[in-house]
Amino acid sequence: PATADFTYLEGLNSGQREAVEALDGPVLVLAGAGTGKTRVLISRLAHILNLRNVKPWEILAVTFTNKAAAEMQERTAHIIGPQAIEIKLGTFHSIGVWLLRRHAELIGLDRNFTILDTDDQLRLLKQIMTEEGIDQKRWPPRGLAATIDRWKDKGLRADQVQGANSSEFAHGKAAALYAIYQERLAAQNACDFGDLLLHALTLFQKNSDILALYQNRFKYILVDEYQDTNVAQYLLLRLLAQKHRNICCVGDDDQSIYGWRGAEVGNILKFEDDFSGAKVIRLEQNYRSTSHILGAASGLIAHNEGRLGKTLFTEGNEGDPVILNGLWDGPNEARWIAEEIENHERKGKSLKDMAILVRASFQTRDFEECFLSMGIKYRVIGGLRFYERREIRDVLAYLRVINQPDDDLAFERIYNLPKRGLGTKALEKLRELGRAENLSLSRAAKMAVEKGLFKGKPLTALKDLMASFDDWRAQKDLIPPDELVEAVLEESGYFDMWRQDKSPEAEGKRENLKELVPAIAEYESLGQFLEHVSLVMENNADKGSDMVSLMTLHSAKGLEYDIIFLPGWEEGLFPHQRALDENGLKALEEERRLAYVGITRAKERCYISHASNRRIHGQWQSSLPSRFIDELPSDHTKDQSEQGIYNSTRQSEGFSHTSWRNPESSHLAEILGKRARANQQFVDNSTKPVDKASKSDGFAIGSRIFHQKFGYGRIVRKDGPKLEIAFEKAGVKKVMENFVQAA
Ligand code: ATP
Ligand code: MG
Repeated sequence: PATADFTYLEGLNSGQREAVEALDGPVLVLAGAGTGKTRVLISRLAHILNLRNVKPWEILAVTFTNKAAAEMQERTAHIIGPQAIEIKLGTFHSIGVWLLRRHAELIGLDRNFTILDTDDQLRLLKQIMTEEGIDQKRWPPRGLAATIDRWKDKGLRADQVQGANSSEFAHGKAAALYAIYQERLAAQNACDFGDLLLHALTLFQKNSDILALYQNRFKYILVDEYQDTNVAQYLLLRLLAQKHRNICCVGDDDQSIYGWRGAEVGNILKFEDDFSGAKVIRLEQNYRSTSHILGAASGLIAHNEGRLGKTLFTEGNEGDPVILNGLWDGPNEARWIAEEIENHERKGKSLKDMAILVRASFQTRDFEECFLSMGIKYRVIGGLRFYERREIRDVLAYLRVINQPDDDLAFERIYNLPKRGLGTKALEKLRELGRAENLSLSRAAKMAVEKGLFKGKPLTALKDLMASFDDWRAQKDLIPPDELVEAVLEESGYFDMWRQDKSPEAEGKRENLKELVPAIAEYESLGQFLEHVSLVMENNADKGSDMVSLMTLHSAKGLEYDIIFLPGWEEGLFPHQRALDENGLKALEEERRLAYVGITRAKERCYISHASNRRIHGQWQSSLPSRFIDELPSDHTKDQSEQGIYNSTRQSEGFSHTSWRNPESSHLAEILGKRARANQQFVDNSTKPVDKASKSDGFAIGSRIFHQKFGYGRIVRKDGPKLEIAFEKAGVKKVMENFVQAA
């Protein structure tokens, strides 16, 4: 259109511009970190909408993480305005869910199917293995889960691996177990994460009319982080792109870090075969990092063999060399980094421009303790941690049964939680009835109550439970999801269970449960929230507030920060022990690529450190600096170790290693442990009450209270645990008393 605004083209270099303007036909952009691949994709989105007669929803854009997807949507909206939200943009999994909800019946599911997490997946596999009499000591269920996941990554259904001796598991029984597992999933109207892609693929392979629908719809397809697609994802893309052939993939073989999850760099090579005439564009100028940072990263990755090979240069500043440091132990390392963060803050940097990237998620603990004691605001990106907590999962199981009565795994988790006198015998009875009548457990429970199959206490318990579920289901669409959760927590007796519990963890559990309420309040419906939970791989905490980010290297892909800290570069931690044990060179090279991803996230400054002593799973271990440190070219690094590790080592002479403890830091851990748990910032902390523990009983009418969501107010009426409160901002509301605290 004549009014089109092409300013996004300004400032692009010639290669980038070529990639943006080659709108039609297959395009592959193969280029190193920070060369503007993502920027090219975003500019292309705008360019397509400007020049081609397509609607936003006729464009499919795929990214690797939810955070990256949100960022891409935002950056596109910045250029083309609000219509950006109509672009079909998301992760492969979110697009899989979207397709499956639309066509669930064609793959034998009901629209409201449940997405199982790995815990449920394992529970189901264990159950099947027990029934099939397979020794779970010899053949751990986790191994079966991994085998099935890899098959799914490859796009292989159970009927396609029958007789495959590709697996040694349980003397070649894995394929048969896979088939049973899929049958059970279908019976429970559920699927696992891998199914989101595999079912979508099956949907297209078996329904050419449906495939044609989407082939026609998606006139342009764009894919970021292409190096990390697995075979199933690749096949899905290939099917979708077959008609219009307008597919643009961008990637970097040096950043392939999901091989362990089935990603195949080979997809990059296959692209040119499958899409004949593909235009291949290479970008060589890095716009992100200083030349010292880029030099360090390039020198490191040069140790990998079998790279596609490319040159990278920057016209940016030389900057400061990458700082190396060795510290005495993990807490010392955290303190050093915290002090550097404060130095940068004093010099005018914002916390949000700094990130700490760790190899393993347990490493974040030392930082959390240290930041809490020093008052540095931080967020942990990787929201799964929160939803992985036991008490949260228990409540989620309640919600799942409300949302989807046939969700047997969820039902099993909570039918006797808190204990209501329904033991394994009762469950067996329900299972039997379910099998005989072809009913899910919840439905069988209902029938059992009606038919009088239970007597005495179990009967009352089951009757009450089923009545509660009926009640909650009736309320589900009438009240907001957070109020529903409050009701479930209170009426199920689950919150009470933790209130009665006198163990030291109980308070933390209660705090976490309360944290769930504001988390759910953001969603319009329970179904929407549950879908979010099953999809979140990272937490997009409030963007505005100024906090340091803590995350794993894997979740940092595609992101950039002014200052990056890379702690824990120790043999056995990074490269990870698993990589050293198992696959030799291949796994080691993937670790090195991960290190390359880490360094190349930095724009201005990069710090790499290692500790001589680290507590791993409660055990102190001594460790050697990572081989990757030796591989960094010395003209791009500066070693500060002299003041760090060697001093500390000398100071500690006389302590034997095993008996050594850092009294200060473990004391700190004790004091702060509780606070650390309560304060982890998975949700917006600005709505959280201050440190005081909540006093859940004995509120008098007229007393001033604080509620996480509604703020301050006064109690006007009381009915048992239900309070009617006149809030200063939110008006009069009914809330449960354990969600308020004295103000
Ligand atoms: P990664 O491999 O890490 O995903 P990438 O290739 O996707 O990196 P981008 O994130 O798109 O790179 O760009 C890196 C940085 O360089 C961004 O801050 C981007 O705005 C900037 N940039 C890209 N191209 C240009 C350009 N032509 N002029 C100025 N800055 C640019
Ligand atoms: Mg990118």
